[in-house]
Amino acid sequence: MIIAVDFDGVLNSARYPALGEPMKGAKEAMETLHENHHLIIWTCREGEEQTRAVNWLLARRIPFDAINANHPDNIRRHGGNDCRKVFADLYIDDRQVGGFTGWQDVLLWVKCLDESAAMSAEIAYDLGVRN
Ligand SMILES: [Mg+2]
Repeated sequence: MIIAVDFDGVLNSARYPALGEPMKGAKEAMETLHENHHLIIWTCREGEEQTRAVNWLLARRIPFDAINANHPDNIRRHGGNDCRKVFADLYIDDRQVGGFTGWQDVLLWVKCLDESAAMSAEIAYDLGVRN
């Protein structure tokens, strides 16, 4: 899956524009997610603020694949349209409905989604259906 991860309030615990400690469990969760998913940092930070955020992630060895950039396969799939809204299968944001409930919940959700996708693929295979 492609997962878009907000920076402030999800990875960085300090109030924007400050940089503080990582949110509880953020590094470990990003490492786990990065094993099987494409992680896009999804942030309003631009220019120097974005550079500071990237350096903050690199200094803490928090893995990610892109920052505010669509996955190349999606751009290709949509005829070269690199839209402003980053496409993702899942968005993790402290401004989501219900707020950010923590990395433990995120990992549980992703595990459920992964298992559901695996079961669907298994059923499709058994039925001889191809996507
Ligand atoms: Mg935020």
